[in-house]
This record gives sequence, C-alpha cells and structure tokens, in this order.
Amino acid sequence: MINLPTVAYFSMEYAIESDVKLYAGGLGILAGDYLKEACDNNYPVVGIGIKWKQGYGEQLIDWKTGMPYDAYKNRHYEFMEDTGITVTVKICQRDVKVKVWKYNAQNVNNLYLLDTDVEGNDGDARWITGQLYGWFGEERVAQEMVLGIGGVRALRALGFHPTVFHFNEGHALFAGFELLRERMEQRLSFKKAWEMTRKEVVFTTHTPVIQGNESHPIERLIYMGANLGLNKRQLKAIGGDPFNMTVGALRLARKSNAVSQLHMKTANKMWKRVKGRSEIIGITNAIHIPTWVDKEMLRLAENYSSGETQRNMLWERHMQNKKELIEFVEKRAGVRLDPNVLLIGFSRRAAPYKRSNLIFTEKSFIEPLIKENKIQIVFSGKAHPLDDKGKEIISDIVEMTKRYPGNVVFLENYDMEIGKMLTRGADIWLNNPRRPKEASGTSGMKAAMNGVLNVSILDGWWPEVCNHGVNGWQFGNAYQSDNEAKADEHDFKALKNCLMNEVIPTYYNNRNKWIDMMAASINTTRVPFGMKRMLDEYYSRLYSDK
Ligand SMILES: *Cc1c(COP(=O)(O)O)cnc(C)c1O
Repeated sequence: MINLPTVAYFSMEYAIESDVKLYAGGLGILAGDYLKEACDNNYPVVGIGIKWKQGYGEQLIDWKTGMPYDAYKNRHYEFMEDTGITVTVKICQRDVKVKVWKYNAQNVNNLYLLDTDVEGNDGDARWITGQLYGWFGEERVAQEMVLGIGGVRALRALGFHPTVFHFNEGHALFAGFELLRERMEQRLSFKKAWEMTRKEVVFTTHTPVIQGNESHPIERLIYMGANLGLNKRQLKAIGGDPFNMTVGALRLARKSNAVSQLHMKTANKMWKRVKGRSEIIGITNAIHIPTWVDKEMLRLAENYSSGETQRNMLWERHMQNKKELIEFVEKRAGVRLDPNVLLIGFSRRAAPYKRSNLIFTEKSFIEPLIKENKIQIVFSGKAHPLDDKGKEIISDIVEMTKRYPGNVVFLENYDMEIGKMLTRGADIWLNNPRRPKEASGTSGMKAAMNGVLNVSILDGWWPEVCNHGVNGWQFGNAYQSDNEAKADEHDFKALKNCLMNEVIPTYYNNRNKWIDMMAASINTTRVPFGMKRMLDEYYSRLYSDK
C-alpha cells in the first residue's frame, strides 16, 4: 500500500463488543465495524471516543405496566490500558482533566477513549463522561468539548500526525475549532485558518430527521468556552445562529457524505440553503462481516446452485441458526417458539418514524394469522431514555405479547448480542420506516448476508439492491407523503399485501424458491455491503483530496 493518509476518526460511540456499553445504536455499530475492518486490513486509522462510565442505559420492562425503564450502573473494563497521558480542556472557566485510555482488543488497532472521571476534577466534571446521550444542553456541549477538543489534544500528545480528521456525526465538531485555534495561535487569520482546516476535515451525516440535528445558542458555546476564542460573528459564519452542529460540520469539512444513495438526495435537499457547505456524496454504510455473519452460510451460498443437495444444506444450516435463536428467546423471555412457523424478526431503536408496531394496525389482519399459527414475531429495541413516544410504542408491543403469548415476543435490553442472534435466526427481517427517514439501516444487511430475507420499505440501503421476489421483497413502491397518517395507511396496506400474497405463500408452498432467494440475498449483498467496500470508498472518495 502506498502512502495511505492517516485518519483520525471521531465518534461519540463505538460498538466493539456487546457487553462494553460504549454504544447506543447504529452510529456506534458503524464506527465499531469500521475500526475492525481497518484493523483487518491494516489501514492507518486512529479512533477517538469516550470512555463512558455508565454508557448507554440498560432498558428493562416493567412487565405489569408494559412500560420500559432505564437502569444505569458504573462499569469497569479491565482491558483498558492507561496511556499515562492526560490533557486539559477548559470548560466553563475551569480546567477539566481528560485522561486517555487505549482500548485493547485483538480486532481493533488504535482506539483511544477519553475520560474525565479522574482525581483532581471536581464532582460534576467527573460526570461529563458519565452517560452516553444522557443529557442535553450544557452537559452535551461539555461532552462534545471533551470529544472534539480533548480528542485533538490527545492525538497530539500520543504522537499521531493525522492528515484527515473524520467527524462521524456533528458531535465531534469542536475538533474543528481546536484545529482553527492551533492555526490562529500561529498568527494566521480566521479566514486562512478556516481554509486550511477545511482541507483536513471530512464529515459523515446520519440524520434525515431535522430535530435530530443538534443546535445550541451561540451564547452557550461562548460562556462554556467551546468557541476557543472565536467571536460571535465567526461562530455564526460557521454554524449559524443558533449554532447548528450539522451545518457547522458541513462548512468546516472539505467533503461530506451521507450514508446511502437515497440519503444523499435527502441530505442535499435538506441542507440546500446552507451556503458555503461541502458537497455531500453518498457512501452507503456496510457491516463487518466476521462480526455479524455466519461463515458457514456464506460458504454454502458461495457454492450454491439450485440443486437439491445444496438447497438442503443451506436450509439445514439456516434451521440450525433458527433453533439457536429459539433457544435464546426461551432463555431470555421464557417463550418457546416453533421452528416450523415463519419467524419475523424486528429490532430497532423505538423511534416513532420506524413504526415498530405498524404490523398491528388492524386486529382483523393480525389475529387470524396468529390464531392459525402462520407467523410468530420477535421484537427488540430501546427507546431513547428521554423519548416518551418511543416508550409508548414499546409498551404497545409488550401489550401484544400479552394478547398473543407464544407468537409475539419482546426481548428487553436490545444489544449487539440480540441483534446478532435475530439477524441470523429469523426467517424474514421486517423494516417499515416512514420513507425517507431511514438514512441507511445496517441490521437489514446483517440479515441479508445470513440468508434472512428482507421485507422492507424502499428506504435507506434497500433500494440499492432489492430485486423484488428474487433476493427479498419491497413493499410500498417508494410511496412518500408529508401526511403521516396517509403514508402509514398506504404502507400498512402494502405490507399486508406483501405478506399475504408473497411472503407467506412462498414460505409454506414454495420452499425451493425461498431457499434460492436466501442464496440470492447472500450473494447479492456480501460484496457491496461488506465493510471492505465502504472502507475503500472512504479512502478513494472522501479521504483523498482529489
Ligand atoms: C445493527 C444494529 C443496529 C443498527 O441497525 P438499524 O438497522 O440501523 O436499526 C442498532 N443496534 C444494534 C444492537 C445492532 O446490532
């Protein structure tokens, strides 16, 4: 390899192992998978993150009321190595010490985590790195100052010389301020410093929901010291007023990317009015195959042709994975599912746009299917601790597990392990977000490569590979409406038709076709949605300055 640039990758969350609670959802999964692939291929990437004392909360169900509640505990990770390095960030006029840890694991090379829970910091400063997405407002700015400003200082102290600073979401934006400060300290003008900083910053945006793009009053950034000497006018030039973290990152970066081709269109439309922003290209997310995919399924699919022996082998292997899931479900939820009944998997953050309970829209539809034992559904997912609507959705699903015990299951405390079991052992993977709100979605890729057929709205990554009736199914025909009720009605009807006319008949009456589709699902996704493709695209389209 000739002279790959050294990349410093900043992310609030990393999902490396299920029990290391430094992640909340898709953003962390992407960051973890990316670092693992960089390690597998020896690409010069350094990850910067935060060593969350409690991480993202566990979310359990009060089974009496069906309501989820959040639980936190302090975590200790023996494998974290003390680098001996501490940097300082001034937050609200006081010096906060930030300790730098190295995440030691065989599948990640360079991941450094920042921690304010150290001797010498006062009580509340020690909690800045307490809970991932635990708070908002000032606490969030403090966390982002640790990640961005502390992150650049940590890199310098560790002796890294990155030529690319990659912000995974706007959370890392203050790293850009630190790069500006370094230059302005060398007596460069703001304008010149910005011009040079832009040359080394790239940015990935993930959120097509406008409220999901964080902003802060400019005053807050100033009294907290996040501005690092930039004045009001300069701050406004970067992120607007109020200061929008996504807008700021789009303007600080030389190039930005959205996480699927459809999301590229959505994001460019969404930020059309932002002047002086970087171009947003589309680099579709992907997964680290060794983490998520059953090797044996991959091998069988690779050598697949529609002969009887090969069909049987692929099916047998799938049934083995399905039985493992069934045992897992029994252990976790005390419900014994039937290996001969179509098993629908659905696990998602319970954000309202993901419509986790869409399938329950009409009792007259779902009830006969369950009474005749045609389907069984396993759900999992967490709502953001501060999202009451999301919690209502979960309690609705818990209600359904009571109405249809034995056919509808909810696994509490969604994590990587549940994600992995479900995307291997289900028969189909149901995905019904309100288009175009799902930026990418990687759980469907995990499923697809395990031969678990996607039944999905044409949103996120799915339109890029969906061949209806060949490697999975789409429903809804890419329908979109600003009227949410109308969109929900349309998509529910489409889901109903797809299940009744295609999925269920194929599963029970045309098993050969089903198995051929499984092989097609694996073979059409393994390369384009494997992390190696994404990593190479990052290098060729985002990191190279051509
Ligand atoms: C894969 C995964 C995700 C991301 O999946 P989406 O399709 O974006 O919902 C989130 N959480 C966990 C635990 C996962 O394994």
